[in-house]
Amino acid sequence: MIELKDVHYQIPSDNETLDIIKSCNLSVQPEEIVAIVGRSGSGKSTLLSLMAGLETPTQGEIHLLGENITHYSEDQRAILRAQQVGFIFQNFQLMPSMSALENILMPLELFQVENAQQKAWHALQRVGLENRAKHRPAELSGGEQQRVAIARAFVTEPKILFADEPTGNLDEQTAQQIQQLLFDLNRSQKTTLVVVTHDNGFAKLCQKTYRLTDGHLEMHTYA
Ligand code: ATP
Ligand code: MG
Repeated sequence: MIELKDVHYQIPSDNETLDIIKSCNLSVQPEEIVAIVGRSGSGKSTLLSLMAGLETPTQGEIHLLGENITHYSEDQRAILRAQQVGFIFQNFQLMPSMSALENILMPLELFQVENAQQKAWHALQRVGLENRAKHRPAELSGGEQQRVAIARAFVTEPKILFADEPTGNLDEQTAQQIQQLLFDLNRSQKTTLVVVTHDNGFAKLCQKTYRLTDGHLEMHTYA
């Protein structure tokens, strides 16, 4: 489903290069739920972007859904993202001029999915925001924006859902509801989940946990 082979990611910084990701190997099976943990700044968001084809590695190979996407063009990546891969960004990346409902409708309308309105409403209901449909992101709380971002990511029924701190801005009760929703998607739609989280309770419920330390990824087991 997802294969990382000796993946490196460097970025130029002043007179040097920074090694953010150093030789990461990972294999995620269909329908698996995987957590990625690690300290702030360890490169978790960068690694998730690489896995989803949002960034290109400086070395190594990335395979997604049976395709080697390492050297895909921007267009090929965009199609893959729109049709098979959902991504919940740590900073949400909602369209500021659009309402909550319009943000969720956007990916459906882009690909002329049937019953788009109905599907978008249903997704809005699943994240408990049906009474915020017409609000723009600036008129929503951080946690509400996060739930709109989550609905927008799963409304297209992706095969793989990448979630960067999906419960980071939520109170405990709402966080548990979102956790449950993600696990429900895994069960009902067979969605493969890769979740970056600081929440140990959430990570423990995932089938596997990997820790990113000093640019390397290691399997993590809880005592
Ligand atoms: P957090 O838990 O705080 O979200 P993270 O593990 O997701 O952190 P990343 O956002 O992946 O960490 O960043 C990893 C490192 O790469 C950080 O030191 C960050 O400062 C650096 N970094 C990320 N993007 C860039 C960039 N565009 N230019 C320079 N440095 C960057
Ligand atoms: Mg991050």
